[in-house]
Amino acid sequence: MKRIVIKVGTSTLMYPNGKLNLQRIEKLAFVLTDLKNQGKEVILVSSGAIGVGCHRLNITKRPATIPEQQAIAAVGQSELMNLYSQFFGNYGQIVGQLLLTRDIIDYPKSRNNVINTFEQLLKQGIIPVVNENDTVAVEELDHLTKFGDNDRLSAIVSELVTADLLIMLSDIDGFYNDNPTTNPAATLFSDIHAITPELVILAGGNGSEFGTGGMATKLKAAHHVLEQNGQMILANGADPTIIFDIINGEQIGTHFRA
Ligand code: ADP
Repeated sequence: MKRIVIKVGTSTLMYPNGKLNLQRIEKLAFVLTDLKNQGKEVILVSSGAIGVGCHRLNITKRPATIPEQQAIAAVGQSELMNLYSQFFGNYGQIVGQLLLTRDIIDYPKSRNNVINTFEQLLKQGIIPVVNENDTVAVEELDHLTKFGDNDRLSAIVSELVTADLLIMLSDIDGFYNDNPTTNPAATLFSDIHAITPELVILAGGNGSEFGTGGMATKLKAAHHVLEQNGQMILANGADPTIIFDIINGEQIGTHFRA
């Protein structure tokens, strides 16, 4: 396991009250920098631009119009990078920002340029921090510009860099046979080898207020990863040091592998 992509959702970076979870961001910076120091190549895919932007602008409810959301994302994205730059900087780690749009799927030239950027950053020991470019990717033009969600984006990034493992951190221990927040009797799948239509039904609808994905997008991402002969682990990001345990081979969360 040399090359690892880690995806964090808004629910990992922020408290449910919309404030920043500094403990988590701090631990994330510590863990990822330590992994890199161990000789791993680490890439972070991070949501949170809108959540952090709402926090910065004192907005409590996500506004309805797309221009308003994009303005918030523009503020939030630079705030988010500023946070990462500071927290990783405390451990001497440099980060680089990649804001992607769908053209990296549609245009081979763009795709190549992005791959080269990733490779060069990793060669220089820099941790790439990836997000969708929300100011360009408009919901209305979904099929043209938007990846759809960062779960999908993290699967595409894993493909671009031929990652050995995608670790997706969420607010839940893994994928269950029912939504455990509404059904306490739901049980965790520890290993999934193929994404069947039955599993997709169990994924239910969307998740948290600021997150956009829910389990459906995580299963689609897992499907993409499996198609590329990759592996994905879905685990709880409450304590980011869980990443050390995952890398050490402990059975944690839901492991998607063929
Ligand atoms: P993130 O913001 O971390 O990307 P989301 O909030 O979008 O995460 O998705 C995680 C949520 O999905 C869980 O908190 C849970 O409420 C919901 N969920 C729905 N169905 C399931 C399921 N079968 N297994 C686990 N979680 C589920």
